[in-house]
Amino acid sequence: METDEIKNLIDIYISPLSQKWKLSHSDNIEIGCPFCKDEKNLSISLSKQIYNCWNCHASGRLLFLFKKFSNLEGLEKYISITKQFSHVSNFDNLFITKEEYKKQEIILPENCISISEIFANKHKIDYIIYEPYIDYLINKRYLDKFLLYKFNIYIDIKNEKIIVPSYDKLGNLNLYFSRGINDKADYFIKGNKNEVIFNEYLINFNIPIILVEGFFDGVRLKNFCPLLGKDLSENSLLFRKIILNNTPILLILDNEKGTIKNKLEIADKIKKYNSKHVIYIGEIKDNSYKDIGSIKNLDIDSFAFYEYNDELKFNLINKL
Ligand SMILES: [Zn+2]
Repeated sequence: METDEIKNLIDIYISPLSQKWKLSHSDNIEIGCPFCKDEKNLSISLSKQIYNCWNCHASGRLLFLFKKFSNLEGLEKYISITKQFSHVSNFDNLFITKEEYKKQEIILPENCISISEIFANKHKIDYIIYEPYIDYLINKRYLDKFLLYKFNIYIDIKNEKIIVPSYDKLGNLNLYFSRGINDKADYFIKGNKNEVIFNEYLINFNIPIILVEGFFDGVRLKNFCPLLGKDLSENSLLFRKIILNNTPILLILDNEKGTIKNKLEIADKIKKYNSKHVIYIGEIKDNSYKDIGSIKNLDIDSFAFYEYNDELKFNLINKL
């Protein structure tokens, strides 16, 4: 039975070994919460495939739990059991509590297909037409299979685009961007980037966040959020949430002279609300690279971080 299989997957890939799930009633199980480490407060509804922690209020679709905490093996098994190729979801706002929430009405272009679905049907479809796109993501953007699944990347053959979607905490699509696979390909955002925190369900505001310009700059780093541009508006949800949570910021923009102004502006905007807000500016250590996304073995150690204070501000202004 499907729910038993899902229970086993949760047991193996999500729940810490010491904290086995227990049946509460018919269709609900409770496990230790991987977000707040509370011992038993995360309830999972197997029929609705959603989770909710009564301690830290983390909530969302079960698929997200697998994307965030499982390895590739567990995620693939979950997808194949539940046939959840895409996030077609519009269930009621079950667990919305205090947080501001505004549903965005965004629909993906017709006929685009997710890469997990392409892989799952590799032998039934005309795989070769998708190959240049997958090749681009893997060999030019250095994403591995896990990241392709985790971010649910789509291919739109008709318009010759890659589509990267963003979902809110309930699994509703709230924005996407698309781009071609040529070097100078155009780039298009559908949705209001000020009202949306890109894939917010994957971001923890209680630990430092890495802010980068584009999705592909940050996708291989932990706890990142793309600005989808070079600036951060004070009216944006992302800005408000950073201020509200006093979230330490690691700001990494491309290594070119033009971005110095952006770094100063973003840092000063945040400092305006709290002069003690912790902000570090990251610079690519190997300065033969200008574009973060082009670094093959990218990780946090690819950057040197400098705390933003009066001295650093002075040095940056002098470089303008
Ligand atoms: Zn929790």
